[in-house]
Amino acid sequence: MFSPKLWQLLTAGTITLIGTGGGLSLTGLLLKATLNNPLLSAQSVDKKSAVTTQNASLNTTQQTISKEFQGQTIYQAKLPITDKVIALTFDDGPGPKNTTQILEILKQNHIKATFFLVGQMVSFHPQIVKQIAAEGHVLGNHTWHHWYRRMDVATAASEINRTADLIYKLTGVKTTLFRPPGGFLHNGLVDYAKSQKYAIIMWSDESGDSQRRGQTPTLIKNVVKSAKPGGIVLMHDGGGNRSRTVKALPQVIADLKAKGYKFVTIPELMEMETKAKDVVTAESSVVTKDGHSSH
Ligand SMILES: [Zn+2]
Repeated sequence: MFSPKLWQLLTAGTITLIGTGGGLSLTGLLLKATLNNPLLSAQSVDKKSAVTTQNASLNTTQQTISKEFQGQTIYQAKLPITDKVIALTFDDGPGPKNTTQILEILKQNHIKATFFLVGQMVSFHPQIVKQIAAEGHVLGNHTWHHWYRRMDVATAASEINRTADLIYKLTGVKTTLFRPPGGFLHNGLVDYAKSQKYAIIMWSDESGDSQRRGQTPTLIKNVVKSAKPGGIVLMHDGGGNRSRTVKALPQVIADLKAKGYKFVTIPELMEMETKAKDVVTAESSVVTKDGHSSH
């Protein structure tokens, strides 16, 4: 209902939102949540206030990833073909409607997933983020604005740190997982994230749910045909209307279960790789210069 307006606001930026807030026709709840959020007018977060975080202190989910994966770029876990586990990941949320629908489907199926959150959306929907954490899912960082453009270090730092600080303030979770918007590895964000020891979590199995033409049966087929042990599935719970994803998800889960898959979070998936003692990180962006230096 308010998606177009919300995206307009997102594009305009938060400061504009505050400045024009009185004249907007957003629901009172959203506006209240937004205006009450102290982070919207501050670049830095008061760390002391984070200590008072309530909800997520009850959350016992493993949110961290082991040291061997810090600063690495990961497309999937390398597991024996008999380890039929797969990780569902959801990007660009929280969305006002679709995220809670997805949480309900996950709950019904006793599945924990990993959510890569956009900081600005977190500021709009803090309660949904608390719900994601309280229900045992893993939180990842997907920057504040979801920009694709090249960024200097200060901007990249702001995009990542501001998001991490807000997630921590709301949930008590210090996320160690980063996914670059659009999967762009060379615009400055990933360099900064690696310097901060994030694991860069890419994907091996793309649902195509962010493409306009992808219909529900296609999304299901895309995920199921690319499924493999150790795979990471990319879907979206925010960034627009994701009702097709919501429709596809129960069948995606059913089909993968029928193929023998179990569902794990990203930290669980990587822990399995560690246990398999066969660590391979897909640092595919590294190119050796040797081959090009002789002519
Ligand atoms: Zn994204």
